[in-house]
Amino acid sequence: MANGGGRDPPVYERPSMRSFPIGYWPEGTRVVLIGSHIRADGRPWVRIRGPRQFEARALGRFLSPVAPRDVVDQGFVRRVTYVAAEQWPGAIEVCANPLGGPEEISASLLFYAIDRAAIFWSSAVPTAVNLSFTGQCASDPDDHADGQNSIGWGAPISPDGGALLGMTVHRARGGLFQEADVLISRDLLTGETACTPAKRRRKAWNCMADVLVHELGHVVGLTHAPDVSDSVMRTGIACERTSRLPDIDLRNLLLLAGP
Ligand SMILES: [Zn+2]
Repeated sequence: MANGGGRDPPVYERPSMRSFPIGYWPEGTRVVLIGSHIRADGRPWVRIRGPRQFEARALGRFLSPVAPRDVVDQGFVRRVTYVAAEQWPGAIEVCANPLGGPEEISASLLFYAIDRAAIFWSSAVPTAVNLSFTGQCASDPDDHADGQNSIGWGAPISPDGGALLGMTVHRARGGLFQEADVLISRDLLTGETACTPAKRRRKAWNCMADVLVHELGHVVGLTHAPDVSDSVMRTGIACERTSRLPDIDLRNLLLLAGP
């Protein structure tokens, strides 16, 4: 998917602009064309198969055979590695506990944002990670030994005592990840206590969606990228809009897959 101009291109069940989109697939999402172009509503449409074999229709102009990355990646440091020493032994499943979330972010918005972030990481380089969101669970994201990778609300604090938008904690043994849990900040993602100017200009749930892209990057096994990169894994990213993963993150994802 491409040419969204910073927004995720919409996909539809039927080739009609009058119907409501059934989803928004981030730029850079790899899709397979099924059949040929058709014309409907005076526009060229394509039938595509995207993440999880999901089929949809999209306007032809949102498809590109070339990954639309180089323009964005210009001017940034490109060769840097931020891969954790440990690896996952296999597929990664994450669930979410919506308990204690703010009023303005419903459980379904939380689930949608997690699913979107999971698709970013699992579809960009399909051979690198197998990450999926399994839905609601009752797991406590502060319990790192319950065998469930869970995402939930809390008040994450950095080692130096500062409040964070989100935090991921791994448990590992013998070079392998056993569990990863993500805590997202109820206070920093909502209203008055919003921590950064970028955050204050954006809706809480939008910001949460981008924080989750960063945190799921940690879950799959990436550490922090330097601030001079355009990685979604840099610490200073706060809640900048992420419409697709930059090249540098794809390169690091490939390293997760091993030599
Ligand atoms: Zn981080």
